[in-house]
This record gives sequence, structure tokens and C-alpha cells, in this order.
Amino acid sequence: MLPSPDTLESVGLVLVVEDEPEIAEVLEGYLRREGFRTERASDGRQALNLVRAARPDLVLLDIMLPEMDGLEVLRRIRSEGHTPVILLTARTEDLDKLLGLELGADDYVTKPFSPREVVARVKAVLRRAVPAEPSRPILRVGPLEIDSEKVVARLEGVRLELTPTEFRLLETLARTPGKAFTRAELLEAALPESDALERVVDVHLKNLRKKLEALGGGGLLETVRGVGYRLWLEA
Ligand code: CA
Repeated sequence: MLPSPDTLESVGLVLVVEDEPEIAEVLEGYLRREGFRTERASDGRQALNLVRAARPDLVLLDIMLPEMDGLEVLRRIRSEGHTPVILLTARTEDLDKLLGLELGADDYVTKPFSPREVVARVKAVLRRAVPAEPSRPILRVGPLEIDSEKVVARLEGVRLELTPTEFRLLETLARTPGKAFTRAELLEAALPESDALERVVDVHLKNLRKKLEALGGGGLLETVRGVGYRLWLEA
């Protein structure tokens, strides 16, 4: 049976931002074989234009790019919306990866990578962005309201502008308020297919805390020394 147009649509459009044509070609080939549609940009400016014009479901973003580097592209994508982004990085320094996550990337893959691995990460990030379970009830914890179906979190009724990874972390913490989660537990919950280091959790949670703080909820996210983090609701 042929998949319905609906199913095809739901697989999604991936924008591959990569200035090395051989790498871009291989990635596009693997993605298409898995049913994704793809667009390609070979420099930073073109990437931004395509994000605006084609509205991809996910962006695979190389860091080393001509015109405008990937981190700057990421900064601008984030200033305009919540399109999931996976960074491709040839550099071995953790700094770049961590900076990318500070800027709101959802995951990263280090070059040289296997295209199969990249496709697995793309699927994992998209699964988090669009949850498969159709009707999970809205979770209400203190001032927080978490709608897993729509991937929307609100604090005192005000929408929090979260990346998919930040959303999953908050959702995990909020499902068991008061429980101290280890970084490993949080990583497993929010980035199950990633081989990201545990301290990557710290970066995502730092971003999440900043966003909670901006709406007056800074005290909600508590660091538990020697363990990890918990959602803390004052009685
Ligand atoms: Ca490059």
C-alpha cells in the first residue's frame, strides 16, 4: 500500500546546510531514502533565506561555513523561531559544541560521521518535536502547564519559548516534581539517541533556567549538589 499523502507530509523537510558538496550529497541521499524531502544551502546567508522561505522541519547545520558561520546562523534562526537544529561540527573542541547548545541547538554530530547516524538523530529530534502519542493530558504542576501534545509549556499562563530539548527536560522534571534527577537520567529522557556528554544537560538546563527566570520562575529549577536537578515547588 502506498503511504497516504498525509504520511509523506509528516516525514518532513530537512534543510542541509553544508558547503562541502560531497558531504551534502551523501546526507541528502540518505535522508531521501528515508522519505524526507531535502533542501540544500551551501553558505550561511542562503541557509537563513531558506529557513525563512521553505520553513524546514529541521536544519542540519555545519558550523564552518562561508559568508556567515553556523553559530551565527543558529543565533538568527533562534531569534526567529524554534525550528529544531542539529549541528555538524568538524572541530573537536567541546567549546564549539557547547556554545552551539547555549545558542539553542538540539543536538550535534561530530565529523566524520556516519550518514546513518545522522539520519537516526534527525528522526529522534523530530520525534521529540512532534510526539507520536495522540492525546496525553495537559500536565499542571504548580504555576507550570505542560501540553505534551502541542509541545507548549506555560508559566502562570505565559508561554515559554523553549527548544524541543528544553521542553523534554522540563517535561521530565515536571512529571515527578521534587525528585532529584541525575544528569544521566535527564540525558536519557531528553536526548535518548545522542552520545552527548552529561554536562550538555547543564547547558540546556542553564538555558531553561534563564527562560523560567525571565518569567519570574527562576526558583523552580533547583540544582541538587552531587546529584543533578529537580523541579522544586514551594508549598
Ligand atoms: Ca564546512
